[in-house]
Amino acid sequence: MDWKAIIKPRDGWAVVPNLKDYERTRATFSWHQARQQLDGLPDGRGINIAHEAVDRHAAGARADHLALRWLGKRGEVRDFTYKEFARLTNRFANVLTTLGVGKGDRVFLLAGRIPELYVSALGTLKNRSVFCPMFSAFGPEPIRQRLGIGDGRVLVTTAALYKRKVADLRQSLPQLEHVLLIGTPEETNTVPGAHNFHALMAAANDQYEIQPTNPEDLALLHFTSGTTGKPKGAMHVHQAVVAHHATGTYALDFHPDDIFWCTADPGWVTGTSYGIIAPFTHGITSIVDEAEFDAERWYGILQQQKVSVWYTAPTAVRMMMKVGVEVVRKYDLRTLRFIASVGEPLNPEAVVWGQDAFGLPIHDNWWQTETGGIMIANYPAMDIRPGSMGRPLPGIKAGIVQRQQDGTFTVVTAPGIEGELALRPDWPSMFRGYLHEEERYRKCFADGWYLTGDLAKCDADGYFWFVGRADDVIKSSGHLIGPFEVESILMEHPAVAEVGVIGKPDPVAGEVVKAFVSLKQQYQPSDELHRELIGFARTRLGAVVAPKEIAFLANIPKTRSGKIMRRLLKARELGLPEGDTSTLEGEA
Ligand code: AMP
Repeated sequence: MDWKAIIKPRDGWAVVPNLKDYERTRATFSWHQARQQLDGLPDGRGINIAHEAVDRHAAGARADHLALRWLGKRGEVRDFTYKEFARLTNRFANVLTTLGVGKGDRVFLLAGRIPELYVSALGTLKNRSVFCPMFSAFGPEPIRQRLGIGDGRVLVTTAALYKRKVADLRQSLPQLEHVLLIGTPEETNTVPGAHNFHALMAAANDQYEIQPTNPEDLALLHFTSGTTGKPKGAMHVHQAVVAHHATGTYALDFHPDDIFWCTADPGWVTGTSYGIIAPFTHGITSIVDEAEFDAERWYGILQQQKVSVWYTAPTAVRMMMKVGVEVVRKYDLRTLRFIASVGEPLNPEAVVWGQDAFGLPIHDNWWQTETGGIMIANYPAMDIRPGSMGRPLPGIKAGIVQRQQDGTFTVVTAPGIEGELALRPDWPSMFRGYLHEEERYRKCFADGWYLTGDLAKCDADGYFWFVGRADDVIKSSGHLIGPFEVESILMEHPAVAEVGVIGKPDPVAGEVVKAFVSLKQQYQPSDELHRELIGFARTRLGAVVAPKEIAFLANIPKTRSGKIMRRLLKARELGLPEGDTSTLEGEA
């Protein structure tokens, strides 16, 4: 914890930050008051995310304000005002109603960043169905698992993705009643048992009245990974929107004239909470870029679209650093006034690089799928200690706790002591459970704390510093990957006897997935088998989850009870001390 390189807030604000006095705002903040910033449904009929994000603006002074500007891969541009967005999302809500899909039913999305995804997300919420996003880069196996665990009734996807990744799974997903395909009639007509998305939209009415929505009604289902077992479906409710809005105010400093660009994919919780919901609840303009990362393209977007607030991720920042600061200088980025980043540790050099490249530091913030919204952040009016995630949001109480031998937890009060990052669970976007997994949910809590699974420290001034994960979960380019999911797939290959999967540190991606494989007796390691295994995993899991590296080992270290010792594999890979190996199988 070295904050010699402290970065002071700038003097003289062009736009005065929403959070000017951290201590005072924290002392006076209440979630009840934060709720008053939103409308609620007319006549006290509850609160619905889509009403706050779309309808209230469409019915008010912001009706003709640009809600979303979509930039296509091939240079297309499509604009949607709040009024237009309201009509489109009404249509989609009517599409669902006509299909008999209602409150609580799960509607899955599998698509790249295309306008139909945003329309479907908010239309689903209007209909009080549950929006469940998936990464378009997932392979068939992660898709099958999520649709299965989530009891997906509806899948909205493109004709191309469906044919490549879902068609063969359909038999194994009996709950999946409706498939809505985005594409031309020629592309979709050949698919048995599927509807054409556009035809249904064209036939639907563009008026829709959101029915009473209880603040605790299920709204979003986001899948996340653990160390063991299947992916977990974290459930979020409609009143989460109160936290999305409040964190948009304080952590992202939204102002009415902002043009905001969140680079995250809606397949990840950031791309939903901040790529869809929070900017819309503020009635500001969001930029959505369909294309993948390209430094020059990104700077071009920042310049041409006059982006003022930019929310991105450490891997992207590190890729920009590789391209070099000279490239940034070719662009006029004067409209940019606030940059934030999330998802993985943001190295101090990256914060400082931002200052050099953009004249603005990059503000790290921390949260996770389960918290639904930003919990710890660096704010525009506060000193930045590069390398620190910042301080808890108003309304959020964070602490460092340590598990004692008797299973109880103590709160660490001395600064600089490592422990597990824990939160007092009483904010609106806190997850309400893992779908069908009560026990896994219960295990996240102790002594009134929610245990985040991250190790951290807190300094004397209340800044939190990330140390690492408390478990074996891997973070690669911002994606959380469960080693067990990767191991399970590799185990299905006929040559594989045992597998252990770890996150291997990587200067750009943070970590890359590395698998250690021992082969069955009749197989020998070879380049060909290596290629085959990499290909096998990629086809089944998709590029995001599959291992980048595979190494053959004669034996995979295991405990005597047969558990793969990933910790030991990692220590050996990194040449670190092996620690306690007394439980290692075969050790004396
Ligand atoms: P996810 O649920 O996929 O968003 O992943 C959440 C996890 O990402 C956290 O529990 C952390 O391990 C990691 N993470 C998120 N933000 C940060 C950050 N600012 N610094 C370090 N790790 C982070």
